[in-house]
Amino acid sequence: MAPGGPHSMELPRRIVIGEGNMPEIGGFLASLAGAGAVSLVSGPQVRSAVGSMVEESLREAGMTWVWHEAADSTAGSVGRIQEEIRADHSGIIAGIGGGRSVDAAKAAAAGLDMPYVSVPTAASHDGMASPFASVRGERPHSVVVSAPLGVFVDIEVIRRAPARLLASGCGDLVANIIAVSDWRLGHERIGEYYGIYSASLARMSANIVMENAAAFAEGGPDARVVVEALISAGVASCIAGSSRPCSGAEHLFSHALDRIAPGRGLHGEKCGLGSIMMAELHGLDWEGIAGALRDVGAPTSAAQVGLGEAEVVEALCIAQELRPERYTILREANLDRDSARDLAGRTGVL
Ligand SMILES: [Zn+2]
Repeated sequence: MAPGGPHSMELPRRIVIGEGNMPEIGGFLASLAGAGAVSLVSGPQVRSAVGSMVEESLREAGMTWVWHEAADSTAGSVGRIQEEIRADHSGIIAGIGGGRSVDAAKAAAAGLDMPYVSVPTAASHDGMASPFASVRGERPHSVVVSAPLGVFVDIEVIRRAPARLLASGCGDLVANIIAVSDWRLGHERIGEYYGIYSASLARMSANIVMENAAAFAEGGPDARVVVEALISAGVASCIAGSSRPCSGAEHLFSHALDRIAPGRGLHGEKCGLGSIMMAELHGLDWEGIAGALRDVGAPTSAAQVGLGEAEVVEALCIAQELRPERYTILREANLDRDSARDLAGRTGVL
């Protein structure tokens, strides 16, 4: 987008964060879509955990529903769900689950031009309120869909998810420090649009983790605080109209690993590792970032997520090529294998 050009923002209309409020999801969906049919996209585990509660609530709200299983968020699976949903004649799609189901629901909703609601059951990344979905089989990075019409969170459900997921969410938040620095760099070097408000909002989400990390070290991160920060980060992307405030070189590193070593490490964990190294390149306090990640229980070394030297070095070398138009510190660092190995080594990632 050209600086000074028109800028449009799409934001979620209703966000509810409660404790033990899953039984109220029917009323929430009815308030957004009216009493009609809803297409529910979920995985088998989540459905067995909260499915009957959701159905009971929908019944009370006078809604009907059809379940769809998100086996994964590949383009093929999204296409299949999209075809199934077309036959539901529903007014809204709800993605209930961790990353996969919400991403599949988002992508299917975009393809069908329907509104969707995200109902995260884990807080492992900032996708719950963001207008982006990662769909495997397309580009290696997120694709633009549209902002969710609503976001509905039951913190009790989030708390029951494995601790590793919440720590990963903290990694995705810390990443905003790098993303905003890279955005600023793109603005300075190539005159890219830079939204000071969305940049500040994204930074604020990261600061919440940085400032509370020591307190989180005792009993683990506070799920409600992390969820609110993740939603706020998603809204920052909505306001920016791009993933810029929440995705810089550290995300490119994570996307490179998705390709080189699929299935190893969670998104937020890999972004956290990337953040440590990119902070060093930016001349930021990388030790402070590593310390905060350690405090929240997120990995700070590649070995902790089963990644070796060859993969980390390769990911650092190819990261910028995955998205050449996105100006980041990697463009200036121009890493080769030796300097990449050195960077990972001196920051303790290797
Ligand atoms: Zn992310």
